Order: sequence, then structure tokens, then C-alpha cells
Amino acid sequence: MTRPLSPRVEAVFWFLLTATGYYLLASLSLYATKGADNIAAVWPPSGYFLAVLLLSPPRVHIAAFLAMTGASVGANMIEGVPATAAAAYTVANAAEATLALWLIRRREPGEMSFMVPQAVGRFCVAALAASAASAVIAALLTGNGVDFFLSWMTTVALGMLIVTPPIVMLARMVGSNALNNVSAAMKAEAIALLTIAAFVTGASFSQSDFPVTFLPCVALIVAAYRLGPFGAAAGMLVVAIIASLLTGQGYGPIAAMDESQKVEVLFLQFYLVTMLFIALPLAALLVVQRRLAKRLEQSNRWLLQAEAAALVGHWRVDLKAWTIQWSDQTYRVHGLEPGKPVDVDYSVEQYLPDDRVAVRKTLEEAVRSGQPFVFQGRITRTDGEIRHVKSHGSIEMGRGGKAVGIFGTVQDVTDTVENARILESARSAAERVANTDMLTGLPNRRHTLAFLDQALRRAEQEGAPLAVAIFDIDHFKAINDQHGHAAGDDVIRRVGQRAKASLRDDDMVGRYGGEEFVCVLQGRSALSAELVAERVRKAVQGDADGAATGLPGVTVSIGLAVYSGEANIEDLLQRADKALYAAKREGRNRLRMAA
Ligand code: GH3
Ligand code: MG
Ligand code: MG
Repeated sequence: MTRPLSPRVEAVFWFLLTATGYYLLASLSLYATKGADNIAAVWPPSGYFLAVLLLSPPRVHIAAFLAMTGASVGANMIEGVPATAAAAYTVANAAEATLALWLIRRREPGEMSFMVPQAVGRFCVAALAASAASAVIAALLTGNGVDFFLSWMTTVALGMLIVTPPIVMLARMVGSNALNNVSAAMKAEAIALLTIAAFVTGASFSQSDFPVTFLPCVALIVAAYRLGPFGAAAGMLVVAIIASLLTGQGYGPIAAMDESQKVEVLFLQFYLVTMLFIALPLAALLVVQRRLAKRLEQSNRWLLQAEAAALVGHWRVDLKAWTIQWSDQTYRVHGLEPGKPVDVDYSVEQYLPDDRVAVRKTLEEAVRSGQPFVFQGRITRTDGEIRHVKSHGSIEMGRGGKAVGIFGTVQDVTDTVENARILESARSAAERVANTDMLTGLPNRRHTLAFLDQALRRAEQEGAPLAVAIFDIDHFKAINDQHGHAAGDDVIRRVGQRAKASLRDDDMVGRYGGEEFVCVLQGRSALSAELVAERVRKAVQGDADGAATGLPGVTVSIGLAVYSGEANIEDLLQRADKALYAAKREGRNRLRMAA
């Protein structure tokens, strides 16, 4: 409704709707299905009236009750029910509607939904309770016994259970324009399925040669399965109308039973109740199941999207079945199309042989300890490319505390590994430059001193022998003066090379200053250190190759100090320097031991 009705028009609208519907349904069921006790097999007006109360605003309920009273008394009396009985029935029906409405609204004040199993359950309980109360009132007011009570109760309960749901659902669908969103194919299917249900029920209940009363049940379940709660409710209504009209008119297998009319009516009622309690809950449960399936599918889709965006795949090993499942992104990490069947061994064999052993060991250890794990290794993709991948995982424990599965993620970290490698090589290149003397390629002063410092700490802690030799080119100024600065540089470089060549790997020689060098000699006795220093001196002096290159021949003077508990390298170097000074003073090209 686009424009709200005025309160009076609204009340009149609901009054007429209630009165007409109630009167027609009451007359029809009285005329068509009335049993020996003047009670119809099914009492649709009860269901219709409850539907009106559920759909209409509370402000028009008084008008609705007035309409229902008039229609009920009228229909009963016209069908020949005495006025007192008609009044008693009407009171019972009015009371039952009030109680049912209160029971339904008590827990959930808003709109009740036939899509939620709990609400359907609550509705059924309300209908049964209200019909029981109605039967008590009707029986008491008319002075009838247990048979009447039972007959009345089933009649009213069926009326509510069968008629209310389809009316409420259809009215809500129309009111919320939901029907517009239903595809034409779906509408056609709904009409076809309900027509089939009508046809099958008609065929089953219009003859008594074949007792096929179960056939409508099949049609109803198909309608519930395909169309949901509305299919179940509408199908039920169709089956109930046709089955009760035909049975009421004496057709079909139930009417043909060799039983009293009372038993036949009871049979029909239980037949309908059974169908109802199969179809309605089934449909509501299907809705829940479909909703869950949809949610599951959606969260699965989100997971895959997140994986694709984060470039992280996942996998799971079933330890019992010894199978593995890969997510789509895991396939992509391996350069494979998602869906190709994979097994555990295949997954491990993707790693390079060097890494396989470690991967297996990590997994075995994790299964044994139950602890989370991380491993990184290289895989060969199907295109032959080698990639670095990293997996984080955890162990799934079964009920008995036994490992039943391994769940892990996998990520291509090649770029990260590559960046780390580039960064490391840049760092080590920078370090090399910072530590190296450009002219000679030997360790520079800073690095030489740092190295000596470490050697001194080691000597201090481990008592290992240590000696340091300082050597200086003799009369170097003259070389510069006579041959030029460039030749001087060449001489410095050459002397450095000669010195290095006469040392072993453990020893080191660095450029200490202009044409001064320092040798750090570790793990050598004083005598051995002296021999090495002497070897250096001789190597420089007898540089035949140097002479062949046209460089002037030079000599060096050396001061050697053996570590004797100095607290710092300055003290040690100072002793060596003094010895060097002595060597110079004593004529150069010689080695002097520090005092
Ligand atoms: P001594 O025998 O007493 O050592 O005499 P010397 O002439 O070698 O004297 P000293 O060691 O004091 O002189 C060092 C000279 O080395 C001074 C400087 O001009 C020169 N020098 C220092 N660094 C370099 C360098 O990198 N290249 C060149 N070509 N010369 C340098
Ligand atoms: Mg010098
Ligand atoms: Mg010199």
C-alpha cells in the first residue's frame, strides 16, 4: 500500500475481508465436509481468521473479531446449527484465535516467519494449544463429551495448521513485492508443481479402486523441496482442500472404508496431520540448510579471494587416508591448474632433492610433537622455474589426542629471498670497500686495527700466542722524488703483494699508513713469528719480478713485538714501533725484536 488508509476505511476493509472470507470458508466446509456430529473434518475459517490477525495491525482487531462473530453465527445457523450451539461454537473459535495469537506473539512480538524452524515449531504448539482450549470451551458450552472434544480439536488444529501458513506467506510475498523478484521460470515451476499436487490428490481421492493415498505425499515433498516453505504450505492447502471435499462428498479410498463416518473423518484428519508434520518442518529445515550452504560457499569464496590477493595458498594432509588437498592458490604457487589430483609424495617431490629430506623431517617431527612448524625450501614449478616457498603449519589432533591431519599455508617467497640476497651482497660489498685499502687491496688501517684488537682479545682469553710486526719502506721519499709519485704507488702496492705472498692464511697484513704495513701473526711462537717477519723482509728485498717490471728495488725495516699481556693494541703497537725505529737507526733492511 503506497498511501496509508484512514483508520475508519482501514477498519472497514479488514471487517469486510474477515467477514466475507470467514463466512465463505465456514459455509463451504460445513456444506462439504460436515461429519455426523455436525463438525467439519477441517475448519479452515480458524486458520483464515488467525492469518487475518497475524497480518493486520492490532488497531483493527476489534473490527475483525466483530466480523468473525457475525460470519460464524450466520454460517452455522444457515447450515442448520441451532442458535445456542452456533453461539457456543463462535465463542470457542474467538477464544482459540485470541489464545493462538497471544502464544505466537508472546515470544516474538514482530512478524513470525515460516522460514525459521523454531518459529514453525512455536506456531504448531500455539495451534495445538489453542485448538485444545477451543475444544474444551465448545464441549463445555454445548454439554458434549470426549468424542466431540477430540473431533473439534483436530478440526480446528488442522484448520489453523493448513490454512494459516500459505495465506500469511503469500500475503507477505505480495506485500513485500518479493513476487516481482521471483523469476518467471520459478513461478511456472510453482504453478506446475501445485497443479501436479492437485491432480495427484484428485486422482487419488476420486476413486477407490487403487488405495494410493500416499501419492499426494510424494507430490507435496517435491513441492516443499523445490519451492521451500511456501511450496509446502500451499501444497498442503491444495491436498487438504481436494482430499476433504472429495472424502466429504463420499468419494475416494477413505470414504470407501467399511467404517463409521466418525472413524473416516478421524482417518482423514490424521492423514492430513501426518502430511503436515512431514512437509512443514522439512521445508523449514531445507531453508536453514540452504542458507548455511550459501554462507559456507560464500566464506569459501572469500577465503579463496583472500588467498589469491595475499598470494598465500593452503593445504591439508589427511594422515589417516594419507591424502593431501591443495587450495587453488597452492596450485598456482606450483604453476599448476587448480584441480589436478595430487598426493602427499608428489607434493614432497616438488621440492629440490636437497630440501626434500628437511621437509619430510619437519613434518615427521611436527606430527610427533604436535607443535606448529615453519619450513622454507625450493620447489621446481611445472614450467621448470625454481621458486622459494615458505610453509607455516599446525597439527590437527583427533579426539584421542592423536594427530589426524596437518594443515599448512604456502607462500612463494622468491622475491623476498632474492631481495634479501641482493641486500646481503650489497651490504658485504659495502663492508669490503669500507675495510679495504684502495691502493693495495689489503685490509686498511681501520680494519687492521679491528682485526688486531680481536686477536688480542683471543690471546688474552685463550692464551694463544700473538705477535705483531710493523714494517716501513726504507728511503721511500727518495723513490717518490726520483721516479715520481705514481711509481711510488706501484712500489707500495708491490711491497704489499710480496708481504702477503709470504704469509699463510691465518696471518694477515694490512696497510697501516703511507708506506707502513702491519702483520698480525697468530698462533705462532716468538721464533716462528720472527722467521715469518724475516721471510717478509727477504721477499721484499729479493723481488726479482718487481725488478723485471722496471720498478726500483726497495727494502723494508721491521719491528716485531710478541704479545706479553698488553691491555690494548696501542701498547703492543708502540713496542713494535719502537723496535722498527731501532731497525731504522741501526741501518735499515733489518728486523728488530721489541724489548
Ligand atoms: P725512512 O727510511 O726513514 O723510512 O725514510 P723515508 O723516506 O721512507 O721516510 P718516511 O717513511 O718518513 O717517508 C714516507 C714518505 O712516503 C712520505 C710521503 O711522501 C710518502 N708517501 C706516503 N704515502 C704515500 C703514498 O700513498 N704514495 C706515495 N707515492 N708516497 C707516499
Ligand atoms: Mg714511513
Ligand atoms: Mg720509510
